[in-house]
Amino acid sequence: MYHAAASAIKYNRSGGSHGGFVRIPYAIMGKRVRSGARERKMGGAQLLVCAAIYSYSGADKPCDFTYRELEKRYRLSKSSVARSIRTALENNFVERTDKVHEYKFTGDAGDETFLCVEDWMYHATFLVNGEEKYLTKNEIFVLSYLNSFCRNKSNGAGFRGSDRHIARRLSMSATTVGKCMGTLYAARLAFRFGRAKNLSELATYRVNEKLLREKRAELVRRAKGKNADVKDADVRAARERYYALLRDEAQRRAEQMNARARADFAYREAEKKMRKLDIEIAKADAHGLPALAELRREHDAARRMMMERLDAMNLTPEDLVVHHRCMKCSDTGFLPNGRMCDCYPKDGKQ
Ligand SMILES: [Zn+2]
Repeated sequence: MYHAAASAIKYNRSGGSHGGFVRIPYAIMGKRVRSGARERKMGGAQLLVCAAIYSYSGADKPCDFTYRELEKRYRLSKSSVARSIRTALENNFVERTDKVHEYKFTGDAGDETFLCVEDWMYHATFLVNGEEKYLTKNEIFVLSYLNSFCRNKSNGAGFRGSDRHIARRLSMSATTVGKCMGTLYAARLAFRFGRAKNLSELATYRVNEKLLREKRAELVRRAKGKNADVKDADVRAARERYYALLRDEAQRRAEQMNARARADFAYREAEKKMRKLDIEIAKADAHGLPALAELRREHDAARRMMMERLDAMNLTPEDLVVHHRCMKCSDTGFLPNGRMCDCYPKDGKQ
């Protein structure tokens, strides 16, 4: 059975609503992975793909992400998702079940503490030095890290530490964190109070909670609009399918009846003759030919023969034409004036 809202639900679960978040275990950050012959630190895309599988699979319940869903959720390229999955499989972070898109997290999540990263951040743009920009994966990690302190009121408002502290926790270099902070300051997403160039000098970092709140609301609202479009498209598709099936059925019934009638030799010949006569009569009529009367007599005879044969086969001429279920819209769903017909059932079932 076709569910009208099925793809809308899937859209939500796939992260299309932007309202979700992913948990990235600190234990897998900075892990080194082998990729072919090379070994290097796990990249942002790999972290995200592993974390999504970690977040969405349980002990006995694998998660089923398609590549497309992961691409959409984290704005990743197709090749990046494919590479990340391959690396995750090769390095035993995840396992594939016997179903194609089902994965289980099998890596070491350590003490299970994790960085919480909200999905919408991958889809938001911020004004950075006069340019609308998406944040990079590292910038999002750093911002999410600071945000986790700001949301937790018991820590006071903000993170107290230094770039180096952040770098250690997120297994990044201090230089990378410094660059990320530069963007976050420029975008007015984060502020630093006090100087903190090294571990001994502590500063307080705060995020711009108002801007984050506004951006989140905007992104989720925009996704909801898209979601409604998806639902509308589903309903439209279901309606079109319903009418297409009705028309097919009516057509098929008529064709079956005609085939039954034409199985009779005399009927078939009479029908052929009548078709030929139709053309000849039209010609004779147009040119005022004297043969017209005779052609009409022959035509009548052929038609009588067809009727007789039908009668003998227990068929009526009515059986041979297409009968639509709805006389008003001829099973198109639309009235001649273009308005929708009211014959569509409430539940969409035939
Ligand atoms: Zn109708």
